Amino acid sequence: MSARSEQNILLRGQGIDPNTFVRERQSYTQFQTWIADTRGMVGCPLNCKYCFLQLDGKTPIRPHEDIPLEQMISELKNVETYHPNMPVNFGSETDVFSTRHNINYYYDLLRRYGETDFPNTIIFISKCSIPDKILDVATEIKQPVLFYISYSGLGGTKIEPNVRVNDIRDNFVRLKARNLPVIHYWRPFLPQNSNKETFDEILDHVTKYATCSVINGLRLNDGIRANIAKFWPELIEQDYDFSKTGEFWPQGVRGFLAKYLQQKHPDYPAFFGNTPCSVAYAQEKNDIQGLYNGRMCRESQCPETQRGKCAQNYHRPTEKELRRAIDEMGIKPSVTIFDKDMIVIKEKVEAGKLAYLRTALGFPVVSKTITYQAGYNWAKVREDEGIIEVSWKGNWITI
Ligand code: SF4
Repeated sequence: MSARSEQNILLRGQGIDPNTFVRERQSYTQFQTWIADTRGMVGCPLNCKYCFLQLDGKTPIRPHEDIPLEQMISELKNVETYHPNMPVNFGSETDVFSTRHNINYYYDLLRRYGETDFPNTIIFISKCSIPDKILDVATEIKQPVLFYISYSGLGGTKIEPNVRVNDIRDNFVRLKARNLPVIHYWRPFLPQNSNKETFDEILDHVTKYATCSVINGLRLNDGIRANIAKFWPELIEQDYDFSKTGEFWPQGVRGFLAKYLQQKHPDYPAFFGNTPCSVAYAQEKNDIQGLYNGRMCRESQCPETQRGKCAQNYHRPTEKELRRAIDEMGIKPSVTIFDKDMIVIKEKVEAGKLAYLRTALGFPVVSKTITYQAGYNWAKVREDEGIIEVSWKGNWITI
């Protein structure tokens, strides 16, 4: 790999030619919880200031088709980390429902996917109104489709300038009316949306209509921090090694929210930092990525029945199962050990391969060092990564 390519992979969008970057990306990229389409439609008009598309000039722009949908379908089986239990996210380099062209592309892609024998669950993530015709296909095809609706309370502000809150709120109502699972994606938290009024407005709505919430902090690297510092100046008061940081939160907000949820909505499922569990819960499955009893599991507000299901299915892989899975990923068996309740690989492993191993084995797998494909260095796969709380002007939290 050239020095230039290495730089592109480590520092998405920072000082690199965006077109070179997009060309180096493959049709699909393995993220923490799902295989993501990274070449179907590319570009987004929404212009959210914390979005990593900001860094390679892909927002705000009109999305364009990069790879035809037939090719996207045929290439899925070739993804190195493909596994039948791995969900597939269509439209990770755009907002899938943000333009007519996008809607038509993903409508055709979903219909075509429905005719294939792939068993994988499909994931759509959006901040736009989901067209009825997409919901029609989602109810008709044999594969499960999960909708993640981003609703942070920042819609219409300078941070999410082109997001319409009413469309988002309406999505929850329409999906529930059709009996389709709808997952509330609640992130990021900034001083601007960290107040009780916003929490109440969101919670009063989602607890009525959503299947569950996934609650996550802000992901940062140098470029995104520079964008967000306008809204949260304390972020630039300190240096961080962003290759080792996890989620950033306004000080006290995460703890407050966890307690607030317990008090006001104790029966509502809410997963902190925990996308795999939302996929499992929404499909009435047990833990799909070996997270049971780990930090994210313990911190999440997960129903007792679900906890029982995960406990019952907890399974330590046999040596044979482990050997087969690491062999599939081309990892040497000699560098892999069981360490207490996790598998530790004592060499550099690409982040996507760890996600594969966790899915294939249903057990925690970590490595000493992680490398990242195509610049996705914020898509962490270790759950012991740090939650970083940063001071903020107007902090009202007293707990
Ligand atoms: S019990 Fe833990 S691992 Fe299972 S779904 Fe709930 S939070 Fe996730």
